[in-house]
Amino acid sequence: MHDGRGLERAVRLLIRGLCLRCPRCGARSLFRTWWTMYERCYACQLRFEREQGYFLGAMYINYGATVVLALLGSFALEWWMPVSLTQQLLFWGSFGTLFPLVFFRYSRGLWLGFDYIFDPMDAEGPEAGNDEAV
Ligand SMILES: [Zn+2]
Repeated sequence: MHDGRGLERAVRLLIRGLCLRCPRCGARSLFRTWWTMYERCYACQLRFEREQGYFLGAMYINYGATVVLALLGSFALEWWMPVSLTQQLLFWGSFGTLFPLVFFRYSRGLWLGFDYIFDPMDAEGPEAGNDEAV
């Protein structure tokens, strides 16, 4: 399903990830619950967790987004209103705890889209019945 090239395709795949949609077909099929993903896309059978530890990249995305937002936010808060160090630490400590929980799903969607940009696995076709007995 390569219906676009280059940057346009990459942006579309990342947007699909942010919208929690399958990177291959765009179906809303990533999550069963807030924390639990489906094993495969119900529409195109794309296997989401390609290997054990696959979503480590999503953790990097989540961590990076949290740190960048907390740093920029603390500088902006310091710039616009005088707050004490204790207030900053309390606010950004809470932010650093809660934001990764909220961003968890989106970081996984982004990781799937990002990985699919570089390694679409389309040459293999749908992976139905490709379960390894481990
Ligand atoms: Zn799909």
